[in-house]
Amino acid sequence: MSVENVLKTIQESNIEWVDFRFVDLSGRAHHISLPSTEVDAETFVNGVAFDGSSIPGFRGIEESDMVMMPDPESTFIDPFTQHPTLNIMCDIFTPDGERYERDPRSIAVKAEEYLQKTGIGTRANFAPESEFFIFDDVRYESGTNSASFFVDSEEAGWNTNRKEEGGNLGFKVRVKGGYVPVAPVDTQQDIRSEMSRLLEEAGMRVERHHHEVATAGQAEINFRFDTLTKTADNLLAYKYIVHNTARQYGKTATFMPKPLFGDNGSGMHVHQSIFDGDTPLFYEKGGYANLSEMALHYIGGILYHAPALIALTNPSTNSFKRLVPGYEAPVNLVYSKGNRSAAVRIPVAAVTPKGCRIEFRTPDSTANPYLAFAAMLMAGLDGIKRKINPTELGYGPVDKNIYELPEDDKANIRSVPTSLEEALDALAADCEFLTEGGVFTKDFIDNYIKIKRNEAKSVAIRVHPHEYSLYYDC
Ligand code: GLU
Ligand code: MG
Ligand code: MG
Repeated sequence: MSVENVLKTIQESNIEWVDFRFVDLSGRAHHISLPSTEVDAETFVNGVAFDGSSIPGFRGIEESDMVMMPDPESTFIDPFTQHPTLNIMCDIFTPDGERYERDPRSIAVKAEEYLQKTGIGTRANFAPESEFFIFDDVRYESGTNSASFFVDSEEAGWNTNRKEEGGNLGFKVRVKGGYVPVAPVDTQQDIRSEMSRLLEEAGMRVERHHHEVATAGQAEINFRFDTLTKTADNLLAYKYIVHNTARQYGKTATFMPKPLFGDNGSGMHVHQSIFDGDTPLFYEKGGYANLSEMALHYIGGILYHAPALIALTNPSTNSFKRLVPGYEAPVNLVYSKGNRSAAVRIPVAAVTPKGCRIEFRTPDSTANPYLAFAAMLMAGLDGIKRKINPTELGYGPVDKNIYELPEDDKANIRSVPTSLEEALDALAADCEFLTEGGVFTKDFIDNYIKIKRNEAKSVAIRVHPHEYSLYYDC
C-alpha cells in the first residue's frame, strides 16, 4: 500500500488510532499508538520518536532516542481492538537517520538489498509453516486439554492433563495421534477457521489449515509465500492473530517448540527460493529433485553453516528439546527429497518450476523471523558464491530411513547442535557469512551471543522437576 492509500484507509475506515510496531531482539512486537489525526504524509518521512533504552537487547539509557520509520506496505486493520486501529510495522533508525544496527527488521531489509547487490537474483521468497499448540487457559478454568509441565506424557501414555488423572481416558487421542482426524477428535476446526478468516482480512492468503500430529490441540495454518521482509511481517501478524483469537475463545496458544515431553513439538519449516524477475532460479529439469546447480549450492551453504545458523533459527533452550529423534523434527544435517528427518527437504509432489523450492525444517517459532530469514538467505548466498557442493561435503542426499542405515553410513552423518550453548559456540566461530555486505554487524552478533548465553545460564541454574524423580531421596 502506498502512503496515499494508507491515509485514504484511515479516512475511509474511520481509523481512530495508528499503532506503530517494531520487534525486539527475540522477535516480540512492541507498539505505540498515535491518534490518527496526528498521522499524515510527514509521519512517513520523519518517523515517530520513542525511547529505545527499555527494549531488551537495544541501547543503554545514554543513547535512548530512536525513531520508528513506518513501512506503508505492512499495514493491516487490527481485528481485536474496540477502537478502529491500523497496525503498521516500522524500521528503527537512529536520530542521525542511520538504520539502527541492532534493529532486526533493518537486518532483513539489508539482506534483501544484499541479494540484489550480488546479482544472483532479484527476489528471495519465503514461506514458514509455523506450528503451535492451543491449550485451555487456566485463567478461564474451562475445558480439558491443559498442558501440564510436570506430567511426563510419555509415561502417562494417554494424555497430559492432570485434572483427568484416574478418570476414563479411553476416549483420549494417543500421543502423536493427532494428525488430521475429523471431529469430534479434532475440536479446533472452528478456532483455526476463525484464525484463517482474520489472516485473510489482514491481507494474507491462507492455503490450508489442519490439526497437527501431537495429541493435545496442535495446529498449523499455512499462508502464501512472499518476499523476505514481507513474510516476516506476515509471521508477526500471524502470531498476533493466533494468540488473540485463542484468547477470545478462552484458550491460550503457544509457539514454544516443545511444550510436552514425549509428544511432537512445534517447528517452523521454512520454504525458500530465489527468483530473477519472474524466472525461478532453483528449478532445472532432470537434476536431483529437479534442482538447479544454484539450488544445490544454496543447500550446501545452509547445511555447511547450519550449526551457527541454528543459533538464530532455534534460539531458545527449549528449541533443543524438540530437535531429538523420533518426532519428525530434523536431527540430521543432510538433504533429501522425502525424508522428514533430514534438515533440508525438497518437496517434489505437485511442484511446478515456479514452486520449486527447498524446505529447511530445523527452525522453530522462537526464532525472530527477520533475523532467521536473513541468516538463512546469507548462508544460502554464501553457498552459491563459494559453490559449496553438499554432496561432495557428505551432506547427502539421503533418501533412505536414516535409522535403518548401516552403522558405518550413519556414523558419517552430522547432527544438529544439541544445546543452545553449542549453537552459540558455533555462531561465535562462524559468523563471517552473516557480516558480508554489512548485513549483520559484529556488534550485533557479539551482543546477541552475550544475551543468549545469559538466557541459557538462567535456565541451567534452575532446579528442574525431573531432578526430583532422579534425586529426591525419601
Ligand atoms: N512437528 C514436526 C516438527 O517438529 C513437523 C511435522 C510436519 O512434518 O509437519 O518439525
Ligand atoms: Mg506441520
Ligand atoms: Mg513441512
